Amino acid sequence: MDLNFSRIQKHIDSPRCRFRNEDIANAAVILDVASQPLVVNLAAICTPSRYMKEATLVIESNFMHPAALATACEKSGAWLIQFSTSEVYGKTSAEALLLEEDITPLTLGSVRASRWSYACAKQLAERWIASLPELHWTVVRPFNFIGPQMDFMPGVDGDGIPRVLANFCSSLVRNESLALVNGGVARRCFTSVHDAVDFLFAVFANAAMANGQAFNVGNPHNEKTIAELAQMMRVTYARIAGLDLATVPQPHLVSGVDYYGEGYEDSLRRIPSVEKAELLLGWNAKISLDDALLESLEWFCKHYK
Ligand code: UDP
Repeated sequence: MDLNFSRIQKHIDSPRCRFRNEDIANAAVILDVASQPLVVNLAAICTPSRYMKEATLVIESNFMHPAALATACEKSGAWLIQFSTSEVYGKTSAEALLLEEDITPLTLGSVRASRWSYACAKQLAERWIASLPELHWTVVRPFNFIGPQMDFMPGVDGDGIPRVLANFCSSLVRNESLALVNGGVARRCFTSVHDAVDFLFAVFANAAMANGQAFNVGNPHNEKTIAELAQMMRVTYARIAGLDLATVPQPHLVSGVDYYGEGYEDSLRRIPSVEKAELLLGWNAKISLDDALLESLEWFCKHYK
């Protein structure tokens, strides 16, 4: 079920799939979804550029709809796999240590900084889910999944500012300078979407072990500052496009508030502990950042050029 099937067009005619163009904001749709034995909820507004001006919608999408879905799943007996976010760890500092699911405090910024509307809504959805005594649940906390088909190219198949991978890809393809927000010093652990899919199948195979657990899903070996990411992507793009690196524009600096609007703040570092997923599900991420960037950029160049 989705609002847009463009990314999975090639599966549309498969007899193994049934697609429905619906919105889980609709209560009747939620009841219908919950009648299935297993529900994986990936529906969410999850683009940081929207957390400032559209905080009400962000909270509805990331708390109210999942909460209604969880309540319906508890009644029907469905197993709910809820996609949450690594952003529940909140306003982490540059010195942040490994983030552990059941130990690390979840610390948000001021309510006036509406960047945190998303993290707060996701955290409350997790707490709602965990509060339902009869619900079979699993919570997934993604750490910056990347891959082909991520987000959109501004002005082509979407408006506004996509997340960093698609934004940098768009600038490279357009021969524009990459924007480094607040100096590009924030760090992220980028995780290939293929590792994320493997994780999901490890959950499916371990229903009992995964029950009542929140899991970090990320690649702790792929940590980079955003400035380092920009450089890696310039080099990879130059290679794909057969360009001299010196001709690929240098990044420029921009303040977070100028770029995203009033209320933008950032988490400076988030490295997942993946011990729990290794221990309970036998999963860990395997794909290097080099490989994930090459695959993503190749797809992006082919698709948009
Ligand atoms: N960022 C950046 N330039 C961009 C887009 C994002 O410097 O064009 C930074 C952003 O400020 C943050 C990091 O890249 O520090 C990751 O941002 P993204 O929107 O991908 O997702 P987040 O991890 O913050 O949810």
